Amino acid sequence: MEEDDLSEKQREELRELLQSTISELEPLLASFNAASEIIDLDQPIGRLSRMDELQRQAMSKANRHQLIKKLNQSKQALALWEDYGYCRSCEEPVGYKRLKARPETPYCLECQSARE
Ligand SMILES: [Zn+2]
Repeated sequence: MEEDDLSEKQREELRELLQSTISELEPLLASFNAASEIIDLDQPIGRLSRMDELQRQAMSKANRHQLIKKLNQSKQALALWEDYGYCRSCEEPVGYKRLKARPETPYCLECQSARE
């Protein structure tokens, strides 16, 4: 399926996308870590606001988990740049459209769905 192979121009574009993703996420995650240290649930802030706070923390934890994953996958994609654009499971081309939306993804849509 030659039409799924990336052109040099597309590869370059995606590489820049990955690099800017990394440079955006690294400081963001650093600030996340700093913020989570400040929150102290032992403070008497009332039951409702405590629930809010717990919920907020759970959400930010999930969000942070997603971002860490994205950051790691972006770094890995650059580290394995020779193989970039090919599914790490079935080795078929992932396709430009999917990579443009999620440049860090190591899998094609089919393999990704199978894993979820
Ligand atoms: Zn695949």
